[in-house]
Amino acid sequence: MIRLEIDGRPLEAEAGTTLGSLFHEQYQEAFRLGVAAKLNGRLVDFHTPIQESGRIELVPVESPEGLSVLRHSTSHLMASAVVKLFPDAKLAIGPAIEDGFYYDFQVDRPFQPEDLAQIEEWMHTIADENHLFQRGELDRDEAIRRFREKGETFKVELIEGLPDPTVSTYTHSFFTDLCRGPHVPRTKMLRHFKLLSVAGAYWRGDSSRPMLQRIYGTAFSSKDRLKEHLTRLEEAKLRDHRKVGHALDLYSVQEDAGGGLIFWHPHGAAMRRVIEDFWKDEHLRRGYTLVNTPHIAQIDLWERSGHTGFYRENMYFLEVDKKEYVIKPMNCPFHVLIYKGKKHSYRELPIRIGELGTVYRYERSGVLHGLARVRGFTQDDAHIFCTRDQVEAELAGVLDFARFMLGTFGFQDYQVDLSVRDPASKSDYMGSDEEWETAEGALERVLKRSGLPYHRAEGEAVFYGPKIDVKLTDALGRQWQCSTIQFDFNLPRRFDVRYVGADGGEHPVYMIHRALLGSMERFFATLIEHYAGDFPVWIAPVQVQLITIADAQIPYAQEIRTLFLERGLRVEADLREEKMGAKIRDAELLKIPYMLILGRQEVENRTVSVRSRKKGNEGSIPLDSFVQKLIAEIEART
Ligand SMILES: [Zn+2]
Ligand SMILES: [Zn+2]
Repeated sequence: MIRLEIDGRPLEAEAGTTLGSLFHEQYQEAFRLGVAAKLNGRLVDFHTPIQESGRIELVPVESPEGLSVLRHSTSHLMASAVVKLFPDAKLAIGPAIEDGFYYDFQVDRPFQPEDLAQIEEWMHTIADENHLFQRGELDRDEAIRRFREKGETFKVELIEGLPDPTVSTYTHSFFTDLCRGPHVPRTKMLRHFKLLSVAGAYWRGDSSRPMLQRIYGTAFSSKDRLKEHLTRLEEAKLRDHRKVGHALDLYSVQEDAGGGLIFWHPHGAAMRRVIEDFWKDEHLRRGYTLVNTPHIAQIDLWERSGHTGFYRENMYFLEVDKKEYVIKPMNCPFHVLIYKGKKHSYRELPIRIGELGTVYRYERSGVLHGLARVRGFTQDDAHIFCTRDQVEAELAGVLDFARFMLGTFGFQDYQVDLSVRDPASKSDYMGSDEEWETAEGALERVLKRSGLPYHRAEGEAVFYGPKIDVKLTDALGRQWQCSTIQFDFNLPRRFDVRYVGADGGEHPVYMIHRALLGSMERFFATLIEHYAGDFPVWIAPVQVQLITIADAQIPYAQEIRTLFLERGLRVEADLREEKMGAKIRDAELLKIPYMLILGRQEVENRTVSVRSRKKGNEGSIPLDSFVQKLIAEIEART
């Protein structure tokens, strides 16, 4: 017998019993309360035989774990519908992912949108039959034999990779899948789902293996939640930076040049310059020095920094004068070299070296995504060299700086992850206990004082130091990784980076890597999607569009254009022989904040008729007052 405690109620049961049978007899309502359960903190489903005594907590469907069980179960349901319609389909894997699930299949031809509709229909039919998700256990060899018999070569490969002597399967209706679980008790609990898209995906992400068809779907606990999610997806599609970037002619990726390499078009580049100028000015204001460093360097440097060891697969190599070179994947070693160019006294510290440094990193072609995942990008990088006593003030300064920058661009909600070492395996990390304690303590104190919500992740730190990652929340509630503040106990050792202390002796520095926006490319994607291309005046690529009613106003338009350009305003003139209405519509499509309509009256009175994107028609005002108003708005960065 085993002793269980469910919702505080004690219960005795036979070893090997399942929660399904227990609940069925004694707690009918449990089915309504949970889609799975935790036994002593470990996730189990209603069909897992229980061999040990312990505490049982039900996992409600609304919890992250509950939703994940629901979604993974829906992927089984989808696989069964696919097999019904495509009996020759071979099955790969079908996990739950953030906001949904997928399943990979090998089929004779790619799935079409009509196929998805049919598959969805079959899913509802099978779900409504209310089958149990029955768990089975098979001897490993027997499992291999059975899946091989069915021609499921991917499953056979999966089982062969498992160390366990037995494997578990789950069966609903006619369909059996290799799976560890857990799943919902019955198929009828799967009601609110939607298949979303199809994509090609290599088996095990390996381009030398077969190309499979991946169907993405999502599932929720209620009709309303599903609907809400689908609406959000629609909205996200409209804001997709690839789509908006193309419509506003901001950037492109050119096939002739290769994937993941960004071409900034005039309007995108204009925005980038605004961002970069703002970034540079604020860094100088906060005591940083700015540098520029090369794009390539001899391999020896990267061997010394350790990158050829732990970062090799992301690096590009080339040969110059029979010597191996590396295209820089990071700016850090270069800033270290600049620091080491001369001896530094403690009186000079902290030294903050910043650069908008363009780096190149290899990414698989399958993961490249617009501006968000690329092979060449510009980091808003800086490295701080300081003494132990300065660590906390420097961190506070960087965090404040990050919030100021992001806040100015219109972001107010952040989520912070603090990654610290695993105290149980200290020997896996570079650096002394004192260094780690100083760094982690300072990071946590600074975060506490900031009042920002943060999540402390034990064991998530990289081997060379603890860090914090700041994710911002955009207009659709999605999170984007931007700022990072990362300690490094590796590079200063490898490069022997020191300062001369008050005692006249040399001491190792504390080195901090930090980026505030992350990279120009990804931050640009964030801005585009957050604003849906409807940018605030201070960053808009074109701030003012001049619209002439007839050719007679062209000289006036050209005069205004010159005047605005001299004042550093971004202005364009639409002098085409089009109707005014058409010109206005075109400027609206480009989401230009101000249009100035120029007719006979305006020329005579030296006024402009203002059409604001936010407020509509504002009537005629003197040219000078418009310029003053506009400059004030730009300077306020609202
Ligand atoms: Zn499963
Ligand atoms: Zn760095």
